[in-house]
Amino acid sequence: MKKLIVANWKMNPASLIGARKLFSSVKKTKAVICPPLAYLTEFNYKPLGAQNCHWQESGPYTGEVSPKMLKDLGVEYVIIGHSERRIYFKETDEIINKKLKAALKAGLKPILCIGEKTGENSEKVIINQLKEDLRGISKKDLPKVIIAYEPVWAIGTGDFCPADTAKKIRDFIRGKLNNKVLYGGSVNSKIAGDYTGVGFDGLLVGGASLDAQEFVKIVKNV
Ligand code: PEP
Repeated sequence: MKKLIVANWKMNPASLIGARKLFSSVKKTKAVICPPLAYLTEFNYKPLGAQNCHWQESGPYTGEVSPKMLKDLGVEYVIIGHSERRIYFKETDEIINKKLKAALKAGLKPILCIGEKTGENSEKVIINQLKEDLRGISKKDLPKVIIAYEPVWAIGTGDFCPADTAKKIRDFIRGKLNNKVLYGGSVNSKIAGDYTGVGFDGLLVGGASLDAQEFVKIVKNV
């Protein structure tokens, strides 16, 4: 089955000119591109993803964007529960659960990020996040949630989780849910194929998605 490669640009590039340049070099990959919200309408491209959304359709939530608004723009995917949102914006599992439900209701495909911090027990953290984040999601909607295993200590550090170790977590998740599972955390073109080789359905790529040549290689190598 075709692997799902997702580019999370985070709050980059710093200028629209830079974003247009990066986009023009990676659009041929047909990967899911998740640019900052400010650039979302710049690119006439499919598939696009957002990096976050609110849980309401509209209302007095200054600075926020609703899943329905994203859907209306033609956005297909939305990243929910990224560790940077959990850490810097204090998003709790309860908030993430509301966002997931709202995204599904709007017809978006949510990518739920889960994973342990340094020193935490991965299985314990993952069981708890899956239980809390997916609470009350219907049997019909549950398979639509894409899970991204992203050990927090591996994000943006260069210290990736080796594929054979990540495979154990992938298998653990698949023992609980039959959903797509991606790996994310310091992926580069040299190791990208290792993860899909051990059974991951794709990759969530942060830093390396900002380097067009490297990103194109990642997509080729899976
Ligand atoms: C991410 O932000 O989801 C991510 C995986 O980042 P990086 O590839 O830079 O570790």
